[in-house]
Amino acid sequence: MELSIVIPIYNEAAVIPELHKRLLGLIGLLYGACGIGEKDVEFVLVNDGSRDESLALLLGFFAELPQFRIVNFSRNFGHQIAVSAGIDIAKGNAVVLIDADLQDPPEFIADLYKKYREGFDVVYAVRAGRKGETFFKRITAKFFYRLLRWITKISIPVDTGDFRIMSRRTVDTLKSMPERHRFLRGMVAWIGFNQTGIPYQRRERFAGSTKYPFHKMVRFAVDAITSFSTAPVRVVMWFGFLSALAGLLYSVHVLYIKLFTSKTVPGWSSLMVAILIMSGIQMITLGVIGEYVGRITEEIKKRPLYIIDKIFEPGQR
Ligand code: UDP
Ligand code: MG
Repeated sequence: MELSIVIPIYNEAAVIPELHKRLLGLIGLLYGACGIGEKDVEFVLVNDGSRDESLALLLGFFAELPQFRIVNFSRNFGHQIAVSAGIDIAKGNAVVLIDADLQDPPEFIADLYKKYREGFDVVYAVRAGRKGETFFKRITAKFFYRLLRWITKISIPVDTGDFRIMSRRTVDTLKSMPERHRFLRGMVAWIGFNQTGIPYQRRERFAGSTKYPFHKMVRFAVDAITSFSTAPVRVVMWFGFLSALAGLLYSVHVLYIKLFTSKTVPGWSSLMVAILIMSGIQMITLGVIGEYVGRITEEIKKRPLYIIDKIFEPGQR
């Protein structure tokens, strides 16, 4: 098997017919442009607990085709886990990750593959343009990637998603990293080897709506930061140092007034302000530590990352 293409699917009924068309086109293109035979490419479609008719549609459109394997999860486990399952199952010498919603054009896989053949272990697609995404999403994404690059020691390429091709040794290394809060694009950057990016235009979602509402994006960002850096703990420590220093300086002033003057320091407002700010900082600190402790708890349970209901091999329903 030369090439595996992993596609996570969650409530994508609206795009599956079009996806089918484009993927069939892709098989032809991969043969024409890259010389990959029809039997040398496979697709791993991971149905991540969709609550709509996605599974029925997937079986209807793809079950007869020899290139397609459909993995059905027992419930929704999340995008990064669905992709990880696809990676575990993929057999190809190279593995591609791509979203189902056609924001990442499947035809671009031919370009990724050609670049990979030049001798790269990872070729990721860099978003040169982001059509059809809100200004808010673009600006937060930009800020986030730059923040991440700044605080983590490893260099996670700016403006890339999971759309990429990876060599077998990269995939095998990735499979040996069992952590459950998975930020794949960071994990791949961490692995190293020979990585490069090529630019592409990110399209609008073909149909349906985003499966990453704001709260999931925040969760994703927190996962990314906490799995690659302990900088938040250090930041709150510096807050601690700063407020202790401020307290020390202020106490000198208070003592001076107490010992050397006959005035008294009127106190209610300043006390209230100090208490509120200090207890705020303490709660935040606890929250930051708690975030890491919670992750430790989840890791030591060592539960499987995902539960598979069934794998539909080609021709099976
Ligand atoms: N997805 C998934 N499980 C989830 C959420 C999303 O498998 O819990 C899939 C979804 O079907 C799509 C890909 O992950 O193929 C990316 O999701 P989406 O396009 O909604 O994210 P966005 O592009 O808006 O960031
Ligand atoms: Mg999308």
